[in-house]
Amino acid sequence: MEDEFLIETIRNNCDIDEDGHWIWRGRQRYYGAPCMAFRRETRPVRQVLMTLMGQHFQPGIPLVAECGNALCVAPKCIRSKTNADLMTEARKKKSQEKGMFTRLIKPVGIWDQLIKGTV
Ligand SMILES: [Zn+2]
Repeated sequence: MEDEFLIETIRNNCDIDEDGHWIWRGRQRYYGAPCMAFRRETRPVRQVLMTLMGQHFQPGIPLVAECGNALCVAPKCIRSKTNADLMTEARKKKSQEKGMFTRLIKPVGIWDQLIKGTV
């Protein structure tokens, strides 16, 4: 009962957009992560929600919003960051640094042809 009330309180602290994202209007950590007081501690909102909903998550691994909005705490968007994510981010950053030129001269590879069914 208390848990449902708390989930409702969190919901009321968010602007829910038409796609069902919960955009947090409450407190944030200095790095912008939504946080709130929970059982006399300041805890990330996503962790609190997962706890209230009885979902398991690994402590120490940040819970992020899959939709990419740093302030979204919608349960449907919550997932934990994995090593693979960190690798992808690093790779993305690297390819952004290479810039447009590399992308423009990229030839159509055998894989593209296989996908399009021209081989
Ligand atoms: Zn979202």
